[in-house]
Parts: sequence; C-alpha cells; structure tokens
Amino acid sequence: MTYQADEKGYYGEFGGAYIPEMLYPNVEELRQQYVQIMQEESFQKEFKQLLKDYVGRPTPLYFASRLSDKYNTKIYLKREDLCHTGAHKVNNTVGQILMAKRLGKNRVIAETGAGQHGVATATVCALMGIECIVYMGEIDIARQAPNVARMKLLGATVIPAKSGSRTLKDATNEAIRDWINNPINTHYIIGSVVGPHPYPDMVARFQSVISEEIKIQLLEKEGREAPDYVVACVGGGSNAAGIYYHYLDNPDVGIIAVEAAGKGVLSGESAATSALGKEGIIHGSKTLLMQTEDGQITEPYSISAGLDYPGIGPMHANLFRSGRAEFISVTDADAMKAGQELAKLEGIIPAIETSHALAIFEDRKFEKDDIVVLNLSGRGDKDLSTYIDYFNL
Ligand SMILES: *Cc1c(COP(=O)(O)O)cnc(C)c1O
Repeated sequence: MTYQADEKGYYGEFGGAYIPEMLYPNVEELRQQYVQIMQEESFQKEFKQLLKDYVGRPTPLYFASRLSDKYNTKIYLKREDLCHTGAHKVNNTVGQILMAKRLGKNRVIAETGAGQHGVATATVCALMGIECIVYMGEIDIARQAPNVARMKLLGATVIPAKSGSRTLKDATNEAIRDWINNPINTHYIIGSVVGPHPYPDMVARFQSVISEEIKIQLLEKEGREAPDYVVACVGGGSNAAGIYYHYLDNPDVGIIAVEAAGKGVLSGESAATSALGKEGIIHGSKTLLMQTEDGQITEPYSISAGLDYPGIGPMHANLFRSGRAEFISVTDADAMKAGQELAKLEGIIPAIETSHALAIFEDRKFEKDDIVVLNLSGRGDKDLSTYIDYFNL
C-alpha cells in the first residue's frame, strides 16, 4: 500500500493521462524518459548545485517559539519563503529546465494565473538562455501587473489568452495548443502537481527536496526524522506534495492539507475543492474539481491568487478520498488574521497562501509535545497591496 503514484500515474483512482490524441507524442516522450533522466548522476549533480547556489537551499527549519507558546505545541516553519524568487515554485522550474535541456528542447512554454509560476519559469529560462513564452488570461494580466512586468524584465514573452473567461483555464488551453503545434523543440513547464502523468509525479519529486531536508534538520534538532504532523496549504498541491513526500507512507506522521474557503465553503465564493469538488477531468488528469451539475468547471474564488484553482492534484484527491490526510478549509478573514499574527509574533510576513495554513492553530488543537512542521511556502511581499487594503495600513 502506497500513496505514491503507480506506473501509469494513478494515485488510487485519481491521476492518469487524459489527453487529446495530438498531444500523445509529447507526453509520451516525457513519460518514457523522466525517471531515468532524473536518476542520472550528472542530472542530480547539476540540480543539487543549482538548488544550493542559485535557489539558496537548504532552506532553514525554524522553531517558531512565540507562535508555539501561543498555541501550546511545538511549531517548526520550513522557510521556503527564503528561496530565490520568494517561494517554493522555483524548486520545480529549476528541475524542469534541466529536464528540458536533457530532452534537447530550446523553447519553453508555461501558463500562469497569478503570475507566480510564470515568474519562476521566466527566471530559469533567463538562467539557461532558453526562449520563454508565458500564456496568461487577459484579465489576469490586468490584475497582476507587477508579475507581468517581472516576466518581461526577465526576457519572457507574455501572450494574453483572449478566449472564454480570459483567466487561467483559457491560458492553459492556449499553452496546450502551442505544445501540439511545436512538439519537437518545446517543453511545457507545468507549475504544480497537476496535469497529465508524468507531471504530478515529476513535480512532486522535484519538490520532495523539502521533506528530504526536513528529515535531516529535524534529526539534528529533535533527534528524530519524522514529526507528528506536516501541514501545508493546497492550491494545486505542489508545496504540500513536497513536505508530505517522504512521510506519505509513514502512518505515524499526520498529514494536514489546508484549502481556501474564500468567503465560506457554502458562500458560492470558495476554492475548497475537497469539500465542494466531484470527480472529473481537468488539465488531463482525473481528480476532484469544482463543477456544475453538467460538468462545467466552476470559477473558484480566494483572496489568495495561488489557491484560486478549481481542482487539486491527484495525489491530494487520493489523500482526501482514502482518509490519509485531514483536510481543513480556512476563510479569507481567518487567513488574513493569521498572516498578520505571524508578522507580529515572529517577524515573518507570509504569502497569503501560506497564511491559510497558519490559520489552523486557532481551532485545530495539538498536544503540548507534538512536533508540527508547517510549510512556509512563500513570502508576503507580493501580497503587500492586499494586506494594505485589507487592514487599512
Ligand atoms: C503558488 C503558490 C501556492 C500554491 O501552489 P501549490 O502548488 O499548491 O503549492 C502556495 N503558496 C505560494 C507562496 C505560492 O506561490
């Protein structure tokens, strides 16, 4: 019994590769090669070197003593906010740009919603001197101007998706169309543990460096590799997959996944996929997603752009369905309060995505000597204008 993907990319009943015929050669090329390439010594060497010297790993495992005092338990923060570009996403894009090079690709495409994944992709393309095209919904381009400027400064071309609701799913459609038309020279970098197999498994492996480091760091600090709980926010689920990865099949470690309830799970403005989602196919993968009676994808809502996604990765759908993980949903208001609290108690301003995970301590109580490791997925600089408006700063 394992909670990892099987040969065909299934996590229990979720996952797989539900793709149009014309995309098959591209996905198949990647599927046949990704594990072997990742295991090559030269690949591992270059990947680890870049994670160290470029991303700034290992990121600290910080014991948050004032936060721990307040909630009467032992809380450690895994400081992914200290990664280059300010969040965990770059772990994956560094891995995938090396994969693209090994596959002989000289052009990279990506889709982005809030722009965070677009920036992480543009960053590694600049690093490697590879052409970068980012598809982004026209509406998202208008509301995420700073990230659009970053991508352009990094040398990427940002192409607006003008069809449909002009947001993330339309940008995804454009990216897939591009890939079908450019199968030979182009690699498609997906930004979370979503999409057709092998993407969820490949992205999870790249992000697994997070729990690989925690095992060593916790052994040093507490004399054991495994905490009692690991906690992360879930948009698509990549930072969560990273912190869960090496503990998935250890039943002594509790897994907690935190979703965005938006204005409330039943308010009609929410992104709490496990609570609201039903089985369906999104982005080439069978998973849980928010949809109408007749299977149209519902527009999600969250104050945090990175959690504003109508599905979750198949790993997490299986963790939910099997009961392996505990799912908690947190409203905008509770997340904002928790973000402000961390700033005042620990001098760390978190990304609003991360603030959702931090908000669980108000209601979810732990034992005094429980060790709880929370993934501090990103820093709050990008969210400053939201914090300013919300708190009238
Ligand atoms: C993008 C993002 C997330 C959500 O993405 P996952 O794939 O679920 O990790 C969470 N936190 C931050 C800081 C992000 O930028």
